[in-house]
Amino acid sequence: MKLTFMGTAGARFMVAKQLAASGGLYIEEGNTRISLDPGPGAIVQYAKRKVDLTKLDAIVISHRHLDHSNDVNVMIEAMTEGGFQHRGRLFCPSDALDVDPLVLNYLRRFPQEVVRLEPQKSYTVGDVTFTTTPRHVHQVETYGFRFGSRLGWVTDSAYYEGIAEQHKADVMVIHLVLMDCRTGLPHLCLDDAERIIREAKPRLAILTHYGMTVWRAHPWELAADLTQRIGTEVKAARDGMSIEL
Ligand SMILES: [Zn+2]
Repeated sequence: MKLTFMGTAGARFMVAKQLAASGGLYIEEGNTRISLDPGPGAIVQYAKRKVDLTKLDAIVISHRHLDHSNDVNVMIEAMTEGGFQHRGRLFCPSDALDVDPLVLNYLRRFPQEVVRLEPQKSYTVGDVTFTTTPRHVHQVETYGFRFGSRLGWVTDSAYYEGIAEQHKADVMVIHLVLMDCRTGLPHLCLDDAERIIREAKPRLAILTHYGMTVWRAHPWELAADLTQRIGTEVKAARDGMSIEL
């Protein structure tokens, strides 16, 4: 399985200024291709890296916040060749379809299927099977994901008991939005990330989805410092970075 970071920016200020790209993650395994959380400019990042989106098999949205989902409509159009090819699947929480809908109505019949994600359920797309975690602690319906024991994707959430175990995998991607924990802001801070890594003990932890305070503190320096202190390899994702899992 190959994982590519189509962006590493998280939260509104980083995204508004495009200090880093906000295209989410891209997974390739065998003939299967999945776009995860296509935020603002995802379409540009995929085009820049010459990904043929007409071969995309699925789009997965962890939650309806703009930095995770903004380009979903254009990605659906690309995946279905403007709706002329009835193909591919969209996976998203129900509130992305119902409340203040994110996915335009006219596009909903373009993919083969629109799947409403449910907690702790497994889904298979071609060669890839992924499982949702219980609902995260976040403002809107949000899920984290595990791709077997290979990859755990810790999307936006406040820290909660069990978060480490639920995403535990060989490689764990962690959304690090805040430097300092702040009550009332349901996002992971640096101490939360450290706690998750210590509890889950992955072979490799990768930080991404940086908020402004994290960006200013230089994520790669934070990663080096965590590696030293925890003894687990921690990397800071960079735009366009790919790793084989
Ligand atoms: Zn969010």
